[in-house]
Amino acid sequence: MEFSFNTYEDSLFRIIQEAADELNYPVFVIGGYVRDKILDRPTNDLDFVCKGSGIELAKKVSEKLPGKNKFNYFKNFGTAMVNHQGYELEFVGARKESYRRDSRKPIVEDGTLEDDQNRRDFTINALAIDLGKDKFGQLVDPFGGIADIEAKIIRTPLDPDTTFSDDPLRMLRAIRFASQLQFTIEENTFDSIKRNASRLEIISAERITTEVNKIILSPKPSYGFKLLDEAGLLGIFFREMVALKGVDYENGLGHKDNFYHTLEVLDNICEATDDLWLRWSAILHDIAKPPTKRFKKGIGWTFHGHEVVGARWVPRIFKRFKLPLDQKMKYVQKMVRLHLRPISLTNEEITDAAVRRLLFDAGDDLEDLMTLCKADITSKNPKKVERYLNNYKLLQQKIIDVEERDHIRNWQPPIDGLLIMETFKIKPTILVGQIKDAIKEAILDGDIPNDYDAAFDFMLTKAKELGVERP
Ligand code: ATP
Ligand code: MG
Repeated sequence: MEFSFNTYEDSLFRIIQEAADELNYPVFVIGGYVRDKILDRPTNDLDFVCKGSGIELAKKVSEKLPGKNKFNYFKNFGTAMVNHQGYELEFVGARKESYRRDSRKPIVEDGTLEDDQNRRDFTINALAIDLGKDKFGQLVDPFGGIADIEAKIIRTPLDPDTTFSDDPLRMLRAIRFASQLQFTIEENTFDSIKRNASRLEIISAERITTEVNKIILSPKPSYGFKLLDEAGLLGIFFREMVALKGVDYENGLGHKDNFYHTLEVLDNICEATDDLWLRWSAILHDIAKPPTKRFKKGIGWTFHGHEVVGARWVPRIFKRFKLPLDQKMKYVQKMVRLHLRPISLTNEEITDAAVRRLLFDAGDDLEDLMTLCKADITSKNPKKVERYLNNYKLLQQKIIDVEERDHIRNWQPPIDGLLIMETFKIKPTILVGQIKDAIKEAILDGDIPNDYDAAFDFMLTKAKELGVERP
C-alpha cells in the first residue's frame, strides 16, 4: 500500500525520522491517524510509537521543528506531546502492558512494536506506518486491519473477551467507531460485548460520555444507539432512554414506540444540524413520556406534561453524564420544555399573542426549536406530514411578521422588579413577581400597549387587586 502524505506530513515525518535515527530508535506512526488516512478522513492528531523513550524522541523532534511549538510530557506515563501548527503529536515508547490511553497507572514494561499493536482496541486501530530510513512508508498490519477497513468491519486484534476485560470502555468504542464510520461489528466481537456488557459499570462517566457524544455526532446515530441497546450497554448508563421502549395496548389501541420515535427524530435532526446540543435536545425531547403515560377513555393515549417533567429531568441527566451544567444545559432544557409549543400553535388559529409569547419564551433559540419540531414529524402518512410542514411554513411567516412589528425577541417588559419594589415600598416577595408577570402577560396578550405609561397604570391597578397600596 502506497501512502501519499501532504507537504506538512512529509516534512514532519522526515524530521521525526532524523530525530529517531540520531537516537537509534525505530519509529512508527500508529493508530487513528493511519486508519483515517486510509479512509480519507482528515485528522490532525497523530500518534507515534518508538522503540525507546517517547519523551527523548519528542524533545528532539520539538528542537528540530521549524517555528514555534509547545512541548510537554508526563514522566510517569512515558508520553510526550508536541503541538505544532495545529497538529497534536503524541510520542510514546512501545509498551507491553494493557493499553489505556488515559490510564492513571504508570508504565511498567517496555515492549516491541508488536506488543504495542497487541494491546490496541481494534484491528483497524492497530495499523502502523514505518518512518525509519530503510522502510519509510511501509505498512505494518499484523491483524488484517486493511482488509477490515475494506470490508468495513470492527474486530478486536486478540480474543475479544481479553480485549474487553482489559478495558471495558472498548465495548463502547466499538459501537462508536461502527456508528462514526458506518461499519459493522464482527459477530464474535459483538457477542463478546453482549457477554461483557455489565463490566461497563466500572467505567467513569467522563469516558462514557466522550464516546456517547461521538455517537451522537456521527452521521446516523440511531445505528449506534440501536447497537448500544442490543448489546445491553445502553441501560447501564441511560436507563431513561431504554424505558422509552415498548408499546402498551388498551382496547386494541397502541401508542408509538417512543424509543424508535426518538431515534428517528435524532436522525432527522442530524440532517439539519451538527450541533451537539440540539442533537441532545432531540434525544431528550420525549424522555419523560413513560411516567406521564395515561390511557383516557374516548381520547386514547396521552403523555400530558411530559415536556415539563422532561425539562425537569435534564439537570439530573446532565449531571450524571458529567455534561456541562451551564448555558448548554439551560438550552437543552428550554428545547425540551418548549418542543410542543409550535405544534400547538398550528393546531388552532395562530394568534399574534401566541406568536409573541413564543418569541418571548424561545428568544434567539426559536429557529433551533423549529428545527427540532420539524424533526419531530415522523408520521408515515404523507398527507399528515405535508399538513404539518405547511402549518410550520405559515407559522414561520407569522413569526417574521410579528417580529418586524413588535420586536419581542430579547425584549424586556418596560417595568422591572426594582421599580415595583420602589413604587410600593415593598420587599422582594412573591408579590413583586406576580405584578411583574401580570404586566408581561398583559403586553404579550395585547391587552395593553408595549410602553412605559400603559404598563405603569396597569401596575397600579394590578397591585390594588392584590391588596398592595401605594404609600
Ligand atoms: P478519535 O481520535 O477519532 O477519537 P482514535 O482512534 O484516534 O479516534 P484516540 O482516542 O485518539 O482514538 O486513540 C488513538 C489510538 O490509541 C487508537 O487508534 C487506538 O489504537 C489506541 N487507543 C485509544 N484508546 C484505546 C483503548 N481504550 N484501548 C485500546 N487502544 C486504544
Ligand atoms: Mg485520535
